[in-house]
Amino acid sequence: MDIDNSQLGLDMNAVGREMYQLITELFPICRSITGNGVRESLRILQNRIPLEIHEVSTGTKVFDWTIPKEWNIKDAFIKNSHGEKIVDFKNSNLHVLNYSVPIHKTVPLMELKEHLYSIPDFPEWIPYRTSYYKENWGFCLTHRQYQSLQEGEYEVCIDSRLEDGYLTYGEYYLGGETEREVLFSTHVCHPSLCNDNLSGIALTTLLANYLSHQKTHFSYRFVFIPGTIGSIAWLAQNEQRVSRIHHGLVVACVGDAGKPTYKRSRQGNAEIDRAVMHVLKHCGRDCEIRDFSPYGYDERQYCSPGFDLPVGSLTRTPHGCYPEYHTSADNLNLVIPESLSESFRYYLDIVEILEKNKYYLNLNSKCEPQLGKRGLYSTLGGRTDAKIAEMALLWTLNLTDGTMNLLDIAERSGMTFHQIAEAARLLKEHDLLAPCEKQEG
Ligand code: ZN
Repeated sequence: MDIDNSQLGLDMNAVGREMYQLITELFPICRSITGNGVRESLRILQNRIPLEIHEVSTGTKVFDWTIPKEWNIKDAFIKNSHGEKIVDFKNSNLHVLNYSVPIHKTVPLMELKEHLYSIPDFPEWIPYRTSYYKENWGFCLTHRQYQSLQEGEYEVCIDSRLEDGYLTYGEYYLGGETEREVLFSTHVCHPSLCNDNLSGIALTTLLANYLSHQKTHFSYRFVFIPGTIGSIAWLAQNEQRVSRIHHGLVVACVGDAGKPTYKRSRQGNAEIDRAVMHVLKHCGRDCEIRDFSPYGYDERQYCSPGFDLPVGSLTRTPHGCYPEYHTSADNLNLVIPESLSESFRYYLDIVEILEKNKYYLNLNSKCEPQLGKRGLYSTLGGRTDAKIAEMALLWTLNLTDGTMNLLDIAERSGMTFHQIAEAARLLKEHDLLAPCEKQEG
């Protein structure tokens, strides 16, 4: 791979702002696990990457699941007895229980309340609720709105359609030197919610766009799918190709100010796990590593025992662990460009490790080669940098006996992967190192 992350030529502040801008553009759209909201969102992404859009018909069996009916919505409201709209879908698409069946009738307060959802602890926030697999209707509102409801009759209207159609997902495949793949997966099913999940969509899109301009060793596959049913459908349709996936990450919740959090793959110590943990260990801030659990995002499906793919999930504050999660407060104020660009940087550093983590053989292993006469000291910059680069050269020379790859060497030496990879590049340039297959120790 030609990527040298220290010389990306990328203005990281601009990357953060661009992700934020994309989130802002996608924010108003009412998405769900099926329907026009997903299509419209994917079309917006097509302005940046050549996404292929796939449609899977209602009723299609995908392992133990069936593709549901397609849901679309135009409008919804609750009117009080004076004809005043007291809850209006046009103000927030979170006001409707996502996947609500159509309804238009007048109901007494008692009956209405059976279909209302609010959060007493956060009376100003609208909750996000869904009912995908059980037909129901409902409204979500602030607890303050809920408490202000008077006895009386209410007109409820949900102008939605739930009928045979399709589940839509987007996919972008970038070929590399090898058919072995790295998978990045993000869900696309949440309506106006930013950290979960527009931040993941924005990061995946910009990462795909960036890598499309690089020459890569691995092939890269980016999938934009509705949560759970989307990854199940994708796995069902791609079962024959899944063995090509050598590393993968589920991208979600990457825009809040919280610390980076990595959830390991089911395998636990796959190369992707080690690569992410290495990046976080050296990222210069507090971070958290969690073991795999069969709950969360689509890693649940990728890591189901019949697949057991090396797919982890790198987030900031994980789902369910911040109060704004799945509420109207997960909005454009919760995600910040600085966090988005920082997360993007972690993903790039991980890609650099996957791309460059190879085995090498020291071609001058009997005593140290004389580095000075090769100009390997003089290429170095300031004093501290020079010392670090010198140590990286010495560690790399010492440990490239073919039994350790560059990530092993970085971990054994306590240096960053980037420092070791840069040393390996220099040593290779001076014919002191050659790539090799893994040797038995
Ligand atoms: Zn969610």
